[in-house]
Amino acid sequence: MIEARDVTYAFGETPALRGASLAVGAGEVVAVMGPSGSGKSTLLHCLAGILRPDSGEVRFDGARIDTLGEADRSALRRDSFGFVFQFGQLVPELTAAENVALPLLLRGVRRTPALRAARGWFERLGLAGMEHRRSGELSGGQAQRVALARGLVAEPRVLFADEPTGALDSLTGEEVMTLLVDAAREKGTTVVLVTHEARIAAYADREVMVRDGRVNAPAGVAS
Ligand code: ATP
Ligand code: MG
Repeated sequence: MIEARDVTYAFGETPALRGASLAVGAGEVVAVMGPSGSGKSTLLHCLAGILRPDSGEVRFDGARIDTLGEADRSALRRDSFGFVFQFGQLVPELTAAENVALPLLLRGVRRTPALRAARGWFERLGLAGMEHRRSGELSGGQAQRVALARGLVAEPRVLFADEPTGALDSLTGEEVMTLLVDAAREKGTTVVLVTHEARIAAYADREVMVRDGRVNAPAGVAS
């Protein structure tokens, strides 16, 4: 349902992806692992239509999305994708609840129901009482959970999550993963998640390894 085929991407002279291919089925939860700098975030950004590959193809439901212009790609992200960034990237001027509501507001949901839906996530994520805080008033782990709620709130068809538990202690990380996977299974959401923690990857249906800009099966597993 979401697929990269032979994707290359370079930041100027620095190649980040060198022919990366990954196909993720509908409703599948895939963990992307691999060393720092191997291209995991870049792969996620290409799959999600945030970056446009230099060559290769990205398909969603069989249709090319890498060839779409910026306006069409942002409409696709708004309507079908959720993205949890590696460093949260909350809007500092907005409260935590407004940050979570943002994907709904962008889709045209009115402020009152959007904020109501957003607030529903705070209890589930152990963030009750944090609704009115600005991102600068949250701990790293709290901000990361707010970012995760923002990724899930609009019930995207595909959730891309880049190290969504990286700033969490292992217990909270596992709680958040359980919640993420439960939410995904309940709605049939396809999830592509980057993590460097084997314990977190174990929640996925399948693990893939990115090495040197390419996707391989995990070491020791026959492909
Ligand atoms: P990490 O585990 O540390 O998050 P990663 O696997 O996500 O690493 P990427 O962020 O995809 O790695 O980076 C892949 C390569 O591209 C690295 O060599 C990195 O230095 C380079 N790179 C990433 N972002 C940029 C950028 N904005 N400008 C220049 N080079 C970049
Ligand atoms: Mg990264």
